Amino acid sequence: MLAPIALLLAARSDLKSDIDRLRVKGLTELGAHRMLTDLTTNVGARLSGSPGAAKAVVWVGDKLRAMGLRNVREVPCMVPHWVRGQQERASMTSQGNTTKLSVCALGMSVATPSGGVKAQVIEVGSLEEMATVGEKARGKVVFFNKRFDATLSNTFEAYGGAVGTRFGAASAAAKYGAVAVMVRSMTLANDDFPHTGAMGYEDGVNKVAAVALGAQSADRLSEAIHHGRVTVKLETFCKTLPDAPSASVAGEIVGTEKPNEVIVLGGHLDSWDLGRGAHDDGAGVTQAMEALRLIKGLGWKPKRTIRVVAWMNEENGGRGAKSYADMAAQSGQKHVMAMESDSGGFMPRAVGVSKEKVERVAPWLDLLRPFGVEQFREGGADADNGPLEAEGAALFSLEPENQRYFDYHHTASDTIDKVNARELEMGALVMASLAWLCSEEGVD
Ligand SMILES: [Zn+2]
Repeated sequence: MLAPIALLLAARSDLKSDIDRLRVKGLTELGAHRMLTDLTTNVGARLSGSPGAAKAVVWVGDKLRAMGLRNVREVPCMVPHWVRGQQERASMTSQGNTTKLSVCALGMSVATPSGGVKAQVIEVGSLEEMATVGEKARGKVVFFNKRFDATLSNTFEAYGGAVGTRFGAASAAAKYGAVAVMVRSMTLANDDFPHTGAMGYEDGVNKVAAVALGAQSADRLSEAIHHGRVTVKLETFCKTLPDAPSASVAGEIVGTEKPNEVIVLGGHLDSWDLGRGAHDDGAGVTQAMEALRLIKGLGWKPKRTIRVVAWMNEENGGRGAKSYADMAAQSGQKHVMAMESDSGGFMPRAVGVSKEKVERVAPWLDLLRPFGVEQFREGGADADNGPLEAEGAALFSLEPENQRYFDYHHTASDTIDKVNARELEMGALVMASLAWLCSEEGVD
């Protein structure tokens, strides 16, 4: 019985030396940051349907071909096409003083009527409180001052507890005749960048304009309301155009033994329009690209097919994830593993894994510790890899350190100077390592 154990140990030490080689190459070359710099500088913002998004599709395809990947292709999808238009304008008047407010339209919002709206503003703390205010909102602007729960250590949980307000505020208030809504930005940062993000309208409810308010503006407005009557003037210029053709982009290293078993690494290529989509989610796209660049560059021939996918339209529709999953279902191939990075390019801390695979992958933890991974946690489903669970894929998600992510998320400050090259590369190394381990050992 010694032979199998000896063989197993030999295989383990081979895998360890493989991951050492990935680490040396990755930390020497820092390819993810080079690609992210190029993407954010030469392509820029990439909102679905925009010229930037179209340019990004070409950019990824060119990079994947230059790496020598096979089957580089676009996976088409039709995407919502929302445009911001001119810079929004907002001010408040309280006790005879008028001051500017820092705002941006929420994604998918309608504009204010031409000339803007001018009305008294009232404050509510939540969607639930809106329902109790009811008819008092008629003819007014409603300010939703829903804060992140600062006592939660994981900022994604705080976001999860607040983001429903951003999405649902407009209809919740318009039901009672409000003329517009302002929503406190989804952040714990004490600055005045407004954070955009998707909102939606309920069927049958009047569509009114929705904007995000910078945190400091929100504090000033709240204080003024507590001192007396406040009016706001608000003007936005956004609109939704007909759906536009777009695409996700994929390329791969074809497996030598099981080419029809597919391992997917990816992030989403689209971004909001205000910044450059550096952390959200240029980081995830370039980490996945870097993972394949490292494996290819080392001349390795994986047993299973390892594919990178840059998904389109995560931010305001999820159309790219859907069209990719539809393609996967009809491909005759089996997706065995799908890993997404969409939580920022910060130092890795954990990897989320489908519940039934947590035990299976536990022996790999020591191999990932050099890249900051302290645990495998039950989870793994993000917006774009999630639909692949139905195809039988084990889902993985990169979970980096999260204290700074919502300082930049969906703002003009989501730019390359906020990304540390080594931290970003560590995430690429986690993705490369897990793709390699799943390819060589399987994840059944
Ligand atoms: Zn994202």
